[in-house]
Amino acid sequence: MSGNDDCISINKADKYYKQEDTMSLLTVKNVKKIYTTRFGSVKVQALNDVNFSVEEGEYVAIMGESGSGKTTLLNILASLDTATSGQVLLNGQELSRVSQKDLCAFRRDHLGFVFQDFNLLDTMSLRDNIYLPLVLAGVPYKEMEERIAPLSKKLAIEELLDKYPYEVSGGQKQRAAVCRALITRPDIVLADEPTGALDSKASGKLLHLFGEINGEGQTILMVTHSIQAAAHAGRVLFIKDGCVFHQIYRGNRSRDEMYRMISDALTVIQAQQEPEWRDDHE
Ligand code: ADP
Ligand code: MG
Repeated sequence: MSGNDDCISINKADKYYKQEDTMSLLTVKNVKKIYTTRFGSVKVQALNDVNFSVEEGEYVAIMGESGSGKTTLLNILASLDTATSGQVLLNGQELSRVSQKDLCAFRRDHLGFVFQDFNLLDTMSLRDNIYLPLVLAGVPYKEMEERIAPLSKKLAIEELLDKYPYEVSGGQKQRAAVCRALITRPDIVLADEPTGALDSKASGKLLHLFGEINGEGQTILMVTHSIQAAAHAGRVLFIKDGCVFHQIYRGNRSRDEMYRMISDALTVIQAQQEPEWRDDHE
């Protein structure tokens, strides 16, 4: 790989913060997560020392192999789980300092979620699923109607709002879930493998929509093991052994170039893990 402009040198860096002093939208500092079994006998270190920040308006993908800690990280950012140590700040507010009684409202007011398996309630129409976070926040019905109209149109589900989740396709379910995430106007959308349960056509459509939504200013943080999905983001972070290991900025690269850079980076990261394999190729 030497002598090539595209050659990637990957060194474990431990800080992916921006340099200036101004506050980022999201800051993750020295986050560690150790799972302990009920009797404390077995410990799993899912996150070792995770550091990065996300600026307002960014579209960031976090990539890592299965078991690398992506969901653990997202659950901590979502305040669904707590870190063993370290800090997570959203708009300067430390998540661990939000009291238990304010946590639901905090999540509802600041975060939007999109999960691999949609998490829609089967006993409610798509419309009622989408309204649910606003109902819980006490938003008047008229305002809910005003908010759902342009969003459902953009997501191409306006004709489906009175159907139930089991009556629509996976891609349509996921677009309803995205609508539910966006209707509260969150500071950041957190997505865990959003294309994981979709066929390639529905994935492509969803990723295209994420790009458009981000283009309108919505900050998105998506974890994925799909190169195709990550190639849509403006920046890709790689997580391995519980640390952020490397990052790639899109700059003005095309999606194809981004795809190639991500897959090259993954090859190098895997090679670093398996020295014998690398020897064979030198
Ligand atoms: P990913 O989403 O990247 O596949 P996870 O965050 O789900 O990874 O898991 C990271 C590691 O933590 C894995 O080794 C997994 O087995 C372990 N882990 C995840 N959740 C728990 C849990 N609730 N209890 C114990 N270990 C867990
Ligand atoms: Mg996962």
